[in-house]
Amino acid sequence: MSPPTAPLPWDEIDTVLLDMDGTLLDLRFDNWFWQEHVPAAYGRARGLSFEAAQAALMPRFASARGSLDWYCIDYWTRELELDVRALKRGVREKVAWLGGAEAFLRRLKALDKRCVLVTDAHPETLAIKDERVDLIGHLDAVYSSHPFGAPKADPAFWSSLAAATPIDPRRTLMVDDSLPVLAAARDFGVRWLRAVRRPDSGRPAHDTAGFVGIDTVAELL
Ligand SMILES: [Mg+2]
Repeated sequence: MSPPTAPLPWDEIDTVLLDMDGTLLDLRFDNWFWQEHVPAAYGRARGLSFEAAQAALMPRFASARGSLDWYCIDYWTRELELDVRALKRGVREKVAWLGGAEAFLRRLKALDKRCVLVTDAHPETLAIKDERVDLIGHLDAVYSSHPFGAPKADPAFWSSLAAATPIDPRRTLMVDDSLPVLAAARDFGVRWLRAVRRPDSGRPAHDTAGFVGIDTVAELL
């Protein structure tokens, strides 16, 4: 069970760390891309049916999930012998904000909060999505975990982030749809944590376990 939602004390928060996929942007795109679009392209390249391609790829995806490889365009381009960059760029019109997320970023800026994107997405994936939704213009700083060599759920990410930019975790809010990431943020000392319950607008909400859940970031302000 999730703890009940409580309003945030915005006067005690200076910095807002925001995840990208499933928090600001609709995870529906990523789920469709990896579960349908990539298997279809893989099947076409190898003369396999969609079902056979999916059956071949799903275990490989499952074993990479949670690692930096899972998010790495180069890794999958090599592994699948597919131009994942071109595939992604070709369907970038499908990248979309989650409900109210863009307006939420504007309101944060009006309140003079420091907005920092922290994402496990590969820098090139971030660039392709930014071409479509103009996300980076709303943010004060952007950190992908790839140059740090550790995903956000790894404590090493947090020490690298703290070395890269000053953060007072006691005056910071972190919003993410990944519970292991929120647990790592909590271990680092981030005081305010919120979990997105509906990262994919096409799927039902999920339980956020010990973290306070929100349907969308629009609820935070
Ligand atoms: Mg996410």
